[in-house]
Amino acid sequence: MKKILLLLSLLIISASTLKSQELQIIQGQTYLMDKCGFMEEEDEANNFTSVENWGYSYDSLLVDLNLWGQSPYVKIDSIGLSVQGRPLWQLTISSNPNDITNKRTVFIHARTHPQETEGFWVTEQIINILLSENELGQIIRENCVFYIVPMYNPDGVELGYPRRNANNVDLESNWFTFPNEPEVSALKARFTELMSSPNPIEVELNMHSSSLCKRYFVYHDSAGTSPQFAVMQQNFIEGIRSYYPTGIEPWNYYISWTGGNPMKYPESWFWYYHGESVMALTYEDMYQCSGTGNFNITANAILRGVMDYMNIPTSVDLISLSLPEEFLLEQNYPNPFNPATMIRWQSPVSSWQTIKLYNTLGEEVDTIVDEYLEAGYHSKLYNISSTLPSGVYFYSLQAGNFISAAKKMILLR
Ligand SMILES: [Zn+2]
Repeated sequence: MKKILLLLSLLIISASTLKSQELQIIQGQTYLMDKCGFMEEEDEANNFTSVENWGYSYDSLLVDLNLWGQSPYVKIDSIGLSVQGRPLWQLTISSNPNDITNKRTVFIHARTHPQETEGFWVTEQIINILLSENELGQIIRENCVFYIVPMYNPDGVELGYPRRNANNVDLESNWFTFPNEPEVSALKARFTELMSSPNPIEVELNMHSSSLCKRYFVYHDSAGTSPQFAVMQQNFIEGIRSYYPTGIEPWNYYISWTGGNPMKYPESWFWYYHGESVMALTYEDMYQCSGTGNFNITANAILRGVMDYMNIPTSVDLISLSLPEEFLLEQNYPNPFNPATMIRWQSPVSSWQTIKLYNTLGEEVDTIVDEYLEAGYHSKLYNISSTLPSGVYFYSLQAGNFISAAKKMILLR
């Protein structure tokens, strides 16, 4: 895999399309790709891959906003509109979201690149913890206000674009282009407003997922930041990692900004205007990899690490938050579906795990999952074969000696 990437890189350099690419150092090797591990595509419109919005559409978000909005700890508003006029929804989460006096500020935005749904699944678990009545959620709400924009590129999601907005622009690298895209303008204006408020942003996380099939933070070299910020980043990343050492890569797994500030990303904007006062980093989850999952363990680690970085003591029993205590196969989502749907399950043991698909006659028609997996929370975006007709299907999980009850799913073509 590495050799192929390197070869591709050399080919692209020789074709002199270096214009907006950067060299990245991954485990000591130099590559040419963006920080999500993808090669840049010239024409997004010819490259869309999902009519099901990668398992989580703008409508799905509206349903969840309705649910989250029932919590007394949430206020929901919009920071602006997308190119096609969709609101860019923002959750304000705190013990009293209408009074944030003396609260410490954290900002999170997700789904800049629509296909990178895993960055959103982690964000969703962060929201779940923040709204929960467990001790960690309570401590964070008492001390902090979290602003979360869960779907920063709703047009891209609805159009089925993997990476860009309705104007065919990659919002991630639009921060120093004038005029900005409407989505970038809106988020930048929100950041500017908060940075000049009595509660400026201290941590900003930009949630993505990577084709490199690792969980990591994009570390900005001291050559592009400062020796002081380099140490701050190392402490921040290793602090989070200490709560999930087997799941998140060390700080030096992915090193960027080796030749100065690239002047295009939201993190670049924070560094340019606010230097060491904001820990603004991109987090990359695993993009559709066999190890994809454990979103709540990751969310817990990120929140614990962020609290440690901000010197807010938490004394929560980690064990109870880390691994599931029982088997569970969840209802697929969306349902009905066509042709993709998300299936999530949990297993308290490491074992060979199989999820099979059956028709109404009980005949096996497909294998959805068939692999050895660690104990934890798992998910799979399942794309049903075009040869299977509309109708009712059943799926069930076998993990070790455990066999779940079958769940029903409906394919509507
Ligand atoms: Zn991305």
